Amino acid sequence: MELNFNKVEFIRSAVKPADFLRDGLPQLAFAGRSNVGKSSVINRLVNRKNFARVGASPGKTSQINYFLLDGRAYLVDLPGYGYAKVSKAERDRWGRLMENYFASGLITLGVMIVDARHKPTADDVTMAGWFYDAECPLAVAANKLDKLKKSEIEPNLERIRETLDLREGDGLIPFSAERGDGKEQLIALLRAMLEVEV
Ligand code: GDP
Repeated sequence: MELNFNKVEFIRSAVKPADFLRDGLPQLAFAGRSNVGKSSVINRLVNRKNFARVGASPGKTSQINYFLLDGRAYLVDLPGYGYAKVSKAERDRWGRLMENYFASGLITLGVMIVDARHKPTADDVTMAGWFYDAECPLAVAANKLDKLKKSEIEPNLERIRETLDLREGDGLIPFSAERGDGKEQLIALLRAMLEVEV
């Protein structure tokens, strides 16, 4: 049976490895630069307005939030990166938490949110590398598509694919959390990737 993204419940936040969920259910790890629209993309996927909190929230930058999807898989909201106003201590906490999570072997597949308007940042490239090193398949959502002219879409997608050095089998979906573009395509891609992985 297909994973139902409308059945979703918040389970817990993790701030240290002991909090990680290890019950064997697949984990879909969502990563993205702060303000790229990761919370908005998650809310769009699960059809809720304020499920994942929208808006930068300094001080909450180093926690991992687990949501149970359909009782069968976790949507794992990783803390955003690249938020300029974060202290060094907070950045260090972020780094340790992410390193531990990526080393845990718990990630089934990665979902990266990038900005459809721009070339992926150095941080985005680093993040994609973490998924590659962990040998996770990756789906990339190029968000804020509504801000692009039609003629910009293809070249921008190509630039994203090249800059992130996406592998064969990785997915790239143009997306607008605001308008809803790409929602069904991303859900279909995640279902298909999960079927291969589990
Ligand atoms: P996060 O920090 O990555 O979780 O980003 P948020 O979901 O909080 O979104 C950051 C800002 O981008 C908010 O002002 C959103 O309304 C806006 N935003 C998110 N997705 C879209 C989109 O698809 N199109 C446009 N135009 N704005 C978006």
